[in-house]
Amino acid sequence: MSGGKELRCLVCGGRALIYQPYLGGYLCKEHFVEWFEKTVWETIRRFRLIEEGDRVAVAVSGGKDSLALLSLLSRWRERLGVEVFGVAVDEGIKGYREYKLEALRRLAEELGVEVYVGGFREYLGFTLDEAVEVLAERGMEFTPCSVCGVFRRYIMNRVAREHGATKLATGHNLDDEVQVYVMNILKAHLEGIAREGIATLSGEEGLVPRIKPFYFVREKETLTYALVKGIRTPFVECPYVVYALRHEVRHWINEKASREGEFKYNLLASKEALRGLIGGGGRTTRRCLVCGEPSSKLVCKTCLFRAYLDREYAGRVAEKVAPLWDRLDRETRSILKRMLKE
Ligand SMILES: [Zn+2]
Ligand SMILES: [Zn+2]
Repeated sequence: MSGGKELRCLVCGGRALIYQPYLGGYLCKEHFVEWFEKTVWETIRRFRLIEEGDRVAVAVSGGKDSLALLSLLSRWRERLGVEVFGVAVDEGIKGYREYKLEALRRLAEELGVEVYVGGFREYLGFTLDEAVEVLAERGMEFTPCSVCGVFRRYIMNRVAREHGATKLATGHNLDDEVQVYVMNILKAHLEGIAREGIATLSGEEGLVPRIKPFYFVREKETLTYALVKGIRTPFVECPYVVYALRHEVRHWINEKASREGEFKYNLLASKEALRGLIGGGGRTTRRCLVCGEPSSKLVCKTCLFRAYLDREYAGRVAEKVAPLWDRLDRETRSILKRMLKE
């Protein structure tokens, strides 16, 4: 602290813990926790993210955000009148996932909630480590992160649904939202912008409605909250983190935000305005011809990637789609053709 002037909480004058840019000052531990929980509670209420009688599955990624969310929602079970449990995906990443799952099981036991884990091996027939070997052999045409993200969403949804979830809550915070927004802008991916809102509550059959209770809190705030609440997770990073664009975008946004306190909120407001114009989330969902899961295309992205990674599966996909070959999109056709030729 420079100049010997001690930083004080705006509310009580106590010892400062965190700077809150839009308040123009600091909060102490007690008032920060109060502010954080109030913000999340009001987000849930105002946007009707959770209603009485819901069975809320919390998608636990292994990061502190999702663990903080699991802890918070499990404490609010009675107040909300809901049941809460955790769902996680075991991708089979050696030296990473086993440590994360161990930490998750410990926390779940403390909180008195169940955790259900779906594995890549059981749902797809291979682990991510094995998939990455195949991707590498083919010159990394698809990145491990893009393939893994598709598989994870698919498995999370299935595990949540199989355990009767009526909502699937994720730990995405304001920083995640504006980073994805800027990336979607750079790629002119309007469909992505339309899809990524605070909730997908339309409830297409088979797709558990997704909610984001941390939508209005910054990454720094969720991490501080987790720290204050004693939520720990081993410091191991996924070895496949090579998400270059995301990294650059994050850096740029944080740098801008350090000089303009409202920058992230302005980005979020811009995103919401644009979503209003595009018409949020207007995708008609049907069923994948191969696996029967919800999909916007004839063959879902999971089945397409599985076909790309597993020749036997490609044969099965080809058999199913043969009568409808002409109605497939170009990407699906070209991947299948290549797989069958090899
Ligand atoms: Zn205070
Ligand atoms: Zn499918």
